[in-house]
Amino acid sequence: SRTPLFAGNWKMHKNVKETLEFLEDFLPLAKDIPSEIEIAIFPPFTSLYAAFEKLKGSAIKLGAQNMHWEDKGAFTGEISPPMLKEIPCDYVIIGHSERRQYFAETDDTVNKKVKSAVKYGIVPIICVGESLEQREKGETLSVVLSQVEKAIWEVQIEDGGKLIFAYEPIWAIGTGKVALPSDAQEVIGAIREKLCKLYGNVAQDIRILYGGSVKPDNIKDLMAQPDIDGALVGGASLDAKAFYQIATYN
Ligand code: 13P
Repeated sequence: SRTPLFAGNWKMHKNVKETLEFLEDFLPLAKDIPSEIEIAIFPPFTSLYAAFEKLKGSAIKLGAQNMHWEDKGAFTGEISPPMLKEIPCDYVIIGHSERRQYFAETDDTVNKKVKSAVKYGIVPIICVGESLEQREKGETLSVVLSQVEKAIWEVQIEDGGKLIFAYEPIWAIGTGKVALPSDAQEVIGAIREKLCKLYGNVAQDIRILYGGSVKPDNIKDLMAQPDIDGALVGGASLDAKAFYQIATYN
């Protein structure tokens, strides 16, 4: 009964003009996406408001790729949760591996951001995933489950709709090397088990996405796995037709 979610993380792509051009192509296609499937796009901050205006009247949701945890202050270059609420954004991606790798985000800052997102009513999509080296050393489950536990440390939720996770193995991001569906299921199943221990039954309603080289030709096998509730799509979400094909894999 978890609604499948296809989330397009555009990363540092598409200015306002390109965002509107994408939606010009995507909105007519999206009209035949069944209502029991949810779609969200994550443009750069500078394109969020234009995207919101263009999306009025459509069921497509909007999210940001990052945020600060404080509501305001002397934090040059940062964007606050109330600023995202104002647009408004439904979702925010937290702790993407690119932010952990290149912008010094840690389990601790991820936890602060998750707490803040939940407090402001923005649903965080919390990203976790192992490096190739960690996978080869057999550390995948311990690394990922530790990231999960630290991200939601002292985070209380009344229902499973308040949190989303994305399992994104770092070696699968932007490489064309998608995880085997059974390997992705193993990790995502373990994440759900951990969430059940921490949250009890509501964890059955927490959506867990797979991310990493998702394309129209590999999404079906991933979605056939019992615990995979959708995808966080990078490169293929920049193309209206490819993103549409992913969302309508069936
Ligand atoms: P790709 O789909 O380009 O591999 O990126 C995945 C990702 O990082 C989504 O957040």
